[in-house]
Order: sequence, then structure tokens, then C-alpha cells
Amino acid sequence: MASPLRVLIHGGGIGGLTLATALARRGHTVEVAELRDRFDALGVGIIQPTNALHVMREIGVLDECLAAGFAWEVLTIADPSGKPLARIPQPRMDGAPAGNGIPRPALAGILGDAAVAAGAKIRFATTLIGLDDDGTGVTATLSDGSSGRWDLVVGFDGIGSPLRTRLHGDRYAPEYTGFANWRVTVPRHPDVRGVVMATAGRDAKALLTPMTDGLMYLGAVFAESEDFRPDPERAHEELAERLAGFSGPVAEALAAVTDPSAVVYSRISQVTVGGPWHAGRVVLAGDAAHASTPHLAQGAAMAVEDALVLAGALDAAASVPEALESWEARRRPRALWVQALSRAVLRQETGAPTTPEEDELLKTGIPGAARVLAEPY
Ligand SMILES: Cc1cc2nc3c(=O)[nH]c(=O)nc-3n(C[C@H](O)[C@H](O)[C@H](O)COP(=O)(O)OP(=O)(O)OC[C@H]3O[C@@H](n4cnc5c(N)ncnc54)[C@H](O)[C@@H]3O)c2cc1C
Repeated sequence: MASPLRVLIHGGGIGGLTLATALARRGHTVEVAELRDRFDALGVGIIQPTNALHVMREIGVLDECLAAGFAWEVLTIADPSGKPLARIPQPRMDGAPAGNGIPRPALAGILGDAAVAAGAKIRFATTLIGLDDDGTGVTATLSDGSSGRWDLVVGFDGIGSPLRTRLHGDRYAPEYTGFANWRVTVPRHPDVRGVVMATAGRDAKALLTPMTDGLMYLGAVFAESEDFRPDPERAHEELAERLAGFSGPVAEALAAVTDPSAVVYSRISQVTVGGPWHAGRVVLAGDAAHASTPHLAQGAAMAVEDALVLAGALDAAASVPEALESWEARRRPRALWVQALSRAVLRQETGAPTTPEEDELLKTGIPGAARVLAEPY
């Protein structure tokens, strides 16, 4: 489309800020309504695989991400003591680095600054309270009292997406997988120069991810009942009990944790919006449309791919509805494949029974999946 569009993005997280930057750089008028009062995120790390880094390069923030994080090329599979069993070089996409670990707050700051520098307006502590799509445009009312008319409204408002609820009620509510992720930030062990996946028996895996030169995070997934919450007085001891079979870097990392509040506990849920991701000129993207389990470290990568591909589809199509059709046709197969494979890996790694369809998917394996994901999105 030749003329600049007016786009409202609901949610200034990883996907929303990437879209804001990509669209504002193309000359579109962009506003972001974000519930938080500043660019921020949970204080743990995130893995940016090569496809996410490729998007970061396309929106002009790759160097900042690498400077704030810790880039690596090799995934190491290790025994419970940290002794390497296999070193698997990770693919690179079109010259982008293979992977980067980065603190989530640093990534939020980089993406937020880029969106503002590109010309996007951010409305913090703001949410959508009214929406009327008359077919030629959308009138949206925000909680700060403002209202405006938009060519497109994008819900990048996360797994709990209020915009999804507004469109579909609780038809596509997040579904708890029965597993939860324990994470804690610790000093980086000198041997951890890329992601290390240490295994103790069938059901216990620990992931060590460098985030900066000085910090790494330890993550582990366990089956937990839906109403379980770590004891605020001894969450670090509960994590240590679950990882009792490990020595070496994992045990050293656990020994460094003396504050129970340092442990971040997240129940793992997933969401699939089975019907179309758009209704008229309102579209859901990222976790709001297809949140997956974290086992391929691809949720945010899919969100930023969604964002860049949507910006390109709006360039190429003759109208907003046509752009949304072509965008979804391109994004749905890849995002749902990631979701299905991530779920299958979770079940395999945790010893849960897998279905024949999941067994078929798992034949790709993690190295095979990494190669597919390094292909054009
Ligand atoms: C344990 C765990 C580990 C993970 N590790 C990785 C990893 O290593 N690599 C990876 O690629 N992915 C990972 N993910 C997935 C990744 O975090 C998500 O897929 C990604 O953040 C989705 O981006 P998004 O923009 O769709 O949503 P989000 O990043 O969640 O952003 C949503 C935004 O919407 C805002 N919002 C919510 N409600 C409202 C409202 N009412 N009004 C206005 N704004 C609102 C929120 O404040 C937030 O800023 C992990 C997920 C989990 C649970």
C-alpha cells in the first residue's frame, strides 16, 4: 500500500515493539498502548535464536542486542556433572549469529528505544477499553481518555491477550500443560560459553544459558500441579531438591542462590487460536495467537517474525484485509509447527507419553528443527 497507514498496537512487549519499529521506519503512523508504565520485562534471560537475530538485524538493533547479551555458536549436551557429551554447532541464518542470550529487561529497553527513535508513540499504563470496526476503519478508545480511528489494530498483548478475549470470549483461553519452568539468574560459570543442556536421568534436565559476560541463567522444567506455588521462604531449596542429581556447574549455580525471591516460577501454558487470527481490521499476533511451550526457545522468535512479515505484507498488498490474509497464510503453518514440536519436546524431555503424531514430529529432532528455523520465514 502506497499511503501511510494508521496502526494501533495493543501491547508493547517483544513482538509489539518490533512491529512498531518496522512500521514506523516505513513511514506509517504508529501508536502502542502498553499496560506497563515503562519498557520492562521479567528479570530473567531469553534466548534469541538465529531467526530472531535476523529480525533484529532487519529492524536495525542487532548490534545493540549482541552488545547487551552473550552470543554463541554451539549447543552443548552434558552429563549431570557438566561433562560435555556432544557439541552441536547451531545454524546461522543469512549471516546472523547462531544465538544470543540477553537479559529480558535489556531487550525490552533496546526494542522500546528503537520504536521511539523510529517515530512510534508509546502510551504507557494504557489499555484498550472500546473498539468499533465499521469495515473501513477501527475506532478505538483507550483508558487514558484518548480515542482515534485506525486502519489496523494489532493485538500483541501476550498469552493472556485481553484483545483475544474481546474478540472470542474464553474460547481460546490458555491451557496449562501440567509443567512449570523454574529460572534463576546466577554468576556465569566460565565453562558456560553457549547453551548447555545437562541431563540427569530421563526426567531431569537443566539448561544453563549465558546472558552477559558475568551472568547466566539456570532453567529447569518439572511436572507441577496447577495450584502449586513455590514456598516464598525456601523456593531456592525446592529448586535444589528437584535438581539434586546434578553436580558441576548446575550444583555450583544452585549453591550461589541464597535468596528464595531470586527464583522465578512460571507455569507453562499454550494457546492456539484455531479460527482466523484476524476479524476485520483487528488481528492477533505472537503469543496472543499461538503461544507455545518454551522448549525450542522460539516463542519470541515467532513473535518478531510475525511482526516483520506483517510489515512486509502491508507493503505488498493492495488493502489491509488482503495483507492480513496473505500474512496469516504465511505465518500459521510455521508458528503452529513450532508450537506442536515444542509441546512434543516437552513431553519427551519430561518422560510424558507422546502421541504417534508427536513421535513423527520428534523425528526432526532439535538439530533438524534448528535447521528448518534458520530457513527464510
Ligand atoms: C519460561 C519461558 C521461557 C521462554 N524462553 C524463551 C526463549 O528463550 N526464547 C524465545 O524466543 N521465547 C521464549 N519464551 C516465549 C516468549 O517469552 C514469548 O513467546 C514472547 O514474549 C511473546 O511475545 P509477545 O510480544 O507476543 O508477548 P509479550 O512479550 O508477552 O508482550 C505482551 C505485552 O502486552 C502487554 N499487555 C498485556 N495486557 C495488556 C493490556 N490489557 N493492555 C495493554 N498492554 C497489555 C504486556 O504488558 C506486554 O508488554 C519463553 C516463555 C516462557 C514462559
